[in-house]
Amino acid sequence: MKTRKNMKIYFDNAATTQIDSEVADSMTNVINNIYGNPSSIHSFGRKSRVLIDEARNKIAECLNVNPTEIYFTSCGTEAIATAINGCILQKDIKHIITSPIEHHAVLHTIKSLEKKNLVEVSYVKLDDKGIIDLDDLKEILRTKVRSMVILMHANNEIGNLLPMKQVGDLCSDYNAFFLSDTVQTMGKYKNNLQDINIHFATCSAHKLHGPKGIGFLYINDDTSIEPLILGGGQERNLRAGTENIYGIVGLAKAFEVAYRDMEKNQEFIQGLKSYMLAELKKNIPDIKFNGESEEDGLYTVLNASFPLNSKTEMLLYNLDIAGIAASGGSACNSGVVSISHVLKEIGANNTRIPIRFSFSKYNTKKEVDFCVEQILNLIN
Ligand code: PLP
Repeated sequence: MKTRKNMKIYFDNAATTQIDSEVADSMTNVINNIYGNPSSIHSFGRKSRVLIDEARNKIAECLNVNPTEIYFTSCGTEAIATAINGCILQKDIKHIITSPIEHHAVLHTIKSLEKKNLVEVSYVKLDDKGIIDLDDLKEILRTKVRSMVILMHANNEIGNLLPMKQVGDLCSDYNAFFLSDTVQTMGKYKNNLQDINIHFATCSAHKLHGPKGIGFLYINDDTSIEPLILGGGQERNLRAGTENIYGIVGLAKAFEVAYRDMEKNQEFIQGLKSYMLAELKKNIPDIKFNGESEEDGLYTVLNASFPLNSKTEMLLYNLDIAGIAASGGSACNSGVVSISHVLKEIGANNTRIPIRFSFSKYNTKKEVDFCVEQILNLIN
């Protein structure tokens, strides 16, 4: 098929997404008209307070939780750090169970606690696709002291999905705290948190066509933790600092839009992923795919692995020159020619070139055609 030259294609939606125009409009309206400090008791402040309350209610309704269980933060990383540090300090937990393929926001936070001898860490076994061994998790839970289990819902590099309900039930059986980093799945699935035995979940608005600089931590109402940031009494004393009202309004709008259009977008994006997968397989016999299974996993992420040779060596950069943005690993690693910690853990080595293509509702089949065409031009 013939495709247009000079296309600019964004296939890096796991790193961040384009803001939705409905979200941008909702924020612009607030930026231009509302500026009271939500903690002020006068009418200006009360106007801002109402917006925050409405946003919290909307998000809580989507997740089927209580509004009191949503705490706004500046990003996913802060939500993760708050949950881990706060739970360890408040609950006197001495043992963490996690996996080696978590996001660095999790792994580095845990490492710093381990360095200070505040916790011991067990890493659950994975198979060669990066799937968590639930029997091993059960065995660790059975033999260790009360633990905090930290396992991500969807892996940002390879898209593996965790059976959250099963893991939550296991944690409940052994009285463990459960944090799932849901940054990659919020707004992509109807995460009904009421149905899951979970204490903490995370969100970052810029992953679901919302603004950067805002996210939240879900904390089950039965769980209390120490704050990470001290100061004023905002967010019911859990997160001090004047609220980012524009961001909060944008985040709630992003949720509203995502939930309204979820089925349609899910089907469309899964279609793009399956189509690209089939086209790559058809045209490149020795291509492989990283992650739990080619068709399964997070529907926005396709992690392909090309055999290393003089043509594929610079593939990511050459795609960029051709107008296609993808990633060699996670965003923090793109630009650095090294295998990410996630891919290393599932046995990747320097004999193949991994490229993550991650899709959104703004991509098209035509873009997939153009991308495959460019890949074939570059490697043949
Ligand atoms: N967790 C996962 C799985 C992510 O993909 C990211 C972002 O890449 C984060 C956490 C961190 O989120 P933020 O960039 O909002 O701090």
